[in-house]
Amino acid sequence: MKKTRKEQKILTIYVNLPDREFDIPHFLEGKPFNIAICPYSIVNQTLSDRAIEKITDLLHKKCLLVQRGYRGRCKYDHIDGTDPWHENLCTEWSNPSISLNEQSDIMLRGKSVLLRTFGFAPYGYQAPNHLWDTNTLKVVEVMPYKFIMDKNMIGLSMYNKHSVLVIPEVNILKDNDDKTMFSSGAYVAMDRLRDDYVHDYLSSIELITPFDISPERNSLEKLTINEQKKRISKMQRDLDNLL
Ligand SMILES: [Zn+2]
Repeated sequence: MKKTRKEQKILTIYVNLPDREFDIPHFLEGKPFNIAICPYSIVNQTLSDRAIEKITDLLHKKCLLVQRGYRGRCKYDHIDGTDPWHENLCTEWSNPSISLNEQSDIMLRGKSVLLRTFGFAPYGYQAPNHLWDTNTLKVVEVMPYKFIMDKNMIGLSMYNKHSVLVIPEVNILKDNDDKTMFSSGAYVAMDRLRDDYVHDYLSSIELITPFDISPERNSLEKLTINEQKKRISKMQRDLDNLL
């Protein structure tokens, strides 16, 4: 049993658009974790000034800023009932893909908002819903962000893709099966931080930054399986909503 892999995790806390405050439980104080913000929550002022102050304070300590797209929602309407909460890669089969220029524009606009607000450029990028493509990766490389988050479907290790660190991560509350227990990345929504299960889980592991561990190699086959499983799960969700 690879014990060390179980005990060290890169935690990302996702602040969702309806979240106004940023109250972290005591057990997380002084620890390193990523704070993922959708820039639109600042543009439309859903995130309170108090929350911005708290986040800024944490960024001056051990926490790292992660950018979630720009507004978190697809530019297409999705009037057919499929999920619209993505921005870099559209899941609706009949829509044209989001071009390199469009993605670059979205990401740069968001990065500027975060830099202006917190005084820090984001270290990482999270494509909303973990949906991204090669164009996203190109922008991540040149912007640059140091890492990008991905959904961990099969227990991938953190790895390098060109000059970018890819952090596959699991949802603490949903993905607690054997295949994902060795994931070095884990995430939770801000409003679930006080759940007993999340408390017990986070109390039992050591939190680290993405720069505390070395990337490993995943076979091309494993990367393909992970990507296909991720896309199938999104398509299945859309199908379930339509039927
Ligand atoms: Zn879309």
